[in-house]
Amino acid sequence: MGNERAKASLFVLALLSASLSGCFGDSLDILPERKGIPGGLTLACLQDDAYTSMVIEIDYEAGYKPMTSSTDMLLDRLESVCDKPDGISFDFTEVVFDHNGDWSANDVREQAWEHKDASPLDGSTLTWQILFPSGSYVDSSVLGVAVDASSIALFGDTIETANGPFNRPSVEDVENSVTVHEVGHLLGLVNLVYQSPVDHEDENNEGHSNNDDSVMYWAIESADLANFIFGTLPNEFDEDDLADLSGMADGSIKVTDQLWS
Ligand SMILES: [Zn+2]
Repeated sequence: MGNERAKASLFVLALLSASLSGCFGDSLDILPERKGIPGGLTLACLQDDAYTSMVIEIDYEAGYKPMTSSTDMLLDRLESVCDKPDGISFDFTEVVFDHNGDWSANDVREQAWEHKDASPLDGSTLTWQILFPSGSYVDSSVLGVAVDASSIALFGDTIETANGPFNRPSVEDVENSVTVHEVGHLLGLVNLVYQSPVDHEDENNEGHSNNDDSVMYWAIESADLANFIFGTLPNEFDEDDLADLSGMADGSIKVTDQLWS
């Protein structure tokens, strides 16, 4: 009897933490100052005061290189919101991660910092990093995670299984959207390092949009996204996301937790 009860409360706990973890893993609990929180380098991207160029470092394991359409789309989305007069470029490296089994947020953070080619803030260059490892996240329904201010990971093995019936959305559509979605978290969306004047954060999914036309819609992080999104998978920031980003950029929205100022 006692056992049953313990089991029941464990289950409730698991449910509760599942709804909070989502894309962020446990990153919101463990925040080494230096690495920051997702959104901690959004102003470094949105403004050009200190950082005039940007590099997206892509560290992938053999067979997990992202599709060109994903990185092209990401470049387009970043160029439309970030102020980088000296340009945004990619740095692709095939790596072997020192890791076996499922990935936790800590594993992602550890391997990210192990493999960073440059410090996130170096001279006038801002560098964000995306890992494309083999294997899955500890919560096997998670397609991607943002673990600190400059590091995210996408789980290709899980993305591979997240396409919908009749391949709509396709694996490519899913990878495109998840790539933009996780980088959207590095940009601070939704309400990670600011409070939007518009009520568009999903009340059950912290840090996500309640609009299923936004790439920041909460279900984009989930392997069963095809059950929640009918029609085309969103891969763009919506009006409210864009208004939040421009408000942060021009100072009309107060931004917290930045790693520089
Ligand atoms: Zn997310």
